[in-house]
Amino acid sequence: MLLSYCNNIWRCMCKKKNPSLWEIMSFFSSELNCIEYWVKNRWGGIPVCPHCEKQDEHYFLKSRSKFKCKSCKRQFSVTTGTKLHSTKISLSKWMTAMYMLCHHKKGISSYQLAEDIQVTQKTAWFMLSRLRESMDESKWDFKKLSGQVEVDETYVGGKQANKHKNKRVKGTQGRSTKAKVAIVGMIERNGKIRARSVANVNSEVLLPLLKSNIADASTVFTDEFRGYAKVRYAFNHLKVDHSAGKYVIDEAHTNTIENFWSLLKRSIIGIYHRVSPKHIDKYVAEASFRYNNREKNAYEKFEVLFNNVNGRLTYEELTAAA
Ligand SMILES: [Zn+2]
Repeated sequence: MLLSYCNNIWRCMCKKKNPSLWEIMSFFSSELNCIEYWVKNRWGGIPVCPHCEKQDEHYFLKSRSKFKCKSCKRQFSVTTGTKLHSTKISLSKWMTAMYMLCHHKKGISSYQLAEDIQVTQKTAWFMLSRLRESMDESKWDFKKLSGQVEVDETYVGGKQANKHKNKRVKGTQGRSTKAKVAIVGMIERNGKIRARSVANVNSEVLLPLLKSNIADASTVFTDEFRGYAKVRYAFNHLKVDHSAGKYVIDEAHTNTIENFWSLLKRSIIGIYHRVSPKHIDKYVAEASFRYNNREKNAYEKFEVLFNNVNGRLTYEELTAAA
């Protein structure tokens, strides 16, 4: 091993499925430990030069925390070409922030993170923003939802935002997207959620969205909203008429997705207070990540997030990050 850095906590973390907060914090407080973790988990223990793709025991320049390729002689760090490409923030702070985001069940505000890892609120906001983008599994997980899928929309922002029942009364302002952002959610019963904001809730927007996210033979449950009128042409469609007070008719209910909306709204109101429409999808991605990984403990969630973060950037992302 190039970095022969291996202490008790590292050994402990390798063996343990659920290390404690203290063990994690102690381990990631060392920049060298973080580098070791990246080398092991990004490259399987032996660094791969991002410039020439050669895997070797490349030189480690300890003072710069960088590697020098034995083949092409260019330098690189463990984060070169990843979502943390050319970051100025220490790995120690990134890893701690990543773990805290997974450890706190409802998320963490930029003010709290700033205080916890000793950075400015602006930096903490930037870090959380970058991490939330990495939580957006819909960007690379293209497997369609299937089986029984509940579909519903909710509205965030504006004065009417939390008047949930409003939406249930026909002909009210509840579904207007003038002051609010509409979010459409599709949730597999006992499975995964996909959710994202949409410009409007016409069937011209809703149907293509459903078709690209839900497998053909699925059963789709919605309420009686007219935006779902054409769903029956593509799926087995069962509706529940909320305005008539019929919330659960046998299997035809949308309770699962409504529970998700209340989780999302509680986190936006309780932790993040105000979310601008421009950034709403990042918070939706975070809530979806939590939901989709709900069976995992904090460390397992952290591993999923870490793998998303160390994944390669697209060319657009890379040029934007430089
Ligand atoms: Zn090289």
